Amino acid sequence: MPDALSLDYEGWRNLIETWGEPKFRADQICQWIYSHKAFSYDLMSNLSKDLRAKLNENVSMTLPILIKTASSGGTIKYLWQLMDGARIESVLLNHGGHKTACISTQVGCPLGCAFCATGSMGFKRNLSSGEILGQFLLMESMQPDKAVNNIVFMGMGEPLLNEDNLFKAIRTLNHAKMRNLGARHITISTSGIVPGIEDLADFEVPLRLSVSLHASNDELRSRLMPINKKYPLQRLVDALKFYKKRTGERITIEYILIANINDEPKYAYEMAALLNGLEPYINLIPYNPVKNNKKFKRSTDGAIKKFCAALTELKIEFEVRRERGSDIAAACGQLAADY
Ligand code: SAH
Ligand code: SF4
Repeated sequence: MPDALSLDYEGWRNLIETWGEPKFRADQICQWIYSHKAFSYDLMSNLSKDLRAKLNENVSMTLPILIKTASSGGTIKYLWQLMDGARIESVLLNHGGHKTACISTQVGCPLGCAFCATGSMGFKRNLSSGEILGQFLLMESMQPDKAVNNIVFMGMGEPLLNEDNLFKAIRTLNHAKMRNLGARHITISTSGIVPGIEDLADFEVPLRLSVSLHASNDELRSRLMPINKKYPLQRLVDALKFYKKRTGERITIEYILIANINDEPKYAYEMAALLNGLEPYINLIPYNPVKNNKKFKRSTDGAIKKFCAALTELKIEFEVRRERGSDIAAACGQLAADY
């Protein structure tokens, strides 16, 4: 039996057609699910009773089950349970009326970055496109206006290691007859999966790309992010240049500042040389403490200032990301579903 959230627009049109119903019924169903957040066919009042019964019998509607929430200021963390019992987390950031959902793409992550809580829990499986969409739609359904206008794939997992399901979910989010979310409101963060970045350059939805760099030389980056051994810096930078040329889009580079590891000004100079020609926007993220990880510490305010001064001198545009939700382990790199 297909599941409602795993059906794309064509899937709905074909199904409705094989049932001998007019095709616009597919548009109505998509509108109920993606605009009104109606997750039961019985709520779809403009469909006939017969069609609703047929839908109930033939197309399941499964959504993650909300287990727990934790909130702090404008940040809410959601813990979900999936059909097989696996647990994932998502985060809603609501600041100044600007709402952003941070969504997971995998249960755990296979890449084991040294600084990341998700990495230390290992990898269980990829999320289906329906499970990716389900997190977002449920978070939207809990808002007074039933909408969240930005989505970032920066939750648990490496999005570009789950490319097919991710791209399918994004097509549905972006489709005019489905969620109709503008491409400019969709961001993917990757640890630097080169083939995935190359595929993104040709992807029909021109979304925003963020890349987790965190170190400006191979020796240090391989220690912090083992994936660097497979896709070393020069290959990564070449892929980013290809992406930029193909799409004309500016890339954001994420750089965690970890005390005495990567926060000396010399690394700002090294990064500038490495990224020369890319004109990226740099997002500096002071390291968020991770449970059971005593190896790393957040850079001091003084060190952050010095690093920023070097970037300013290099005329590189940057901002220091103000972390929200670190007190409830909802900030970058703290998601581990380990309640
Ligand atoms: N796997 C993807 C997306 C999820 S991680 C990626 O790595 O890009 C989202 C962001 O949080 C990444 O930039 C990641 O490097 C960062 N992050 C991981 N652990 C962190 C920590 N302890 N403190 C601050 N940022 C962290
Ligand atoms: Fe995976 Fe990203 Fe965490 Fe690295 S930082 S372990 S790629 S989720």
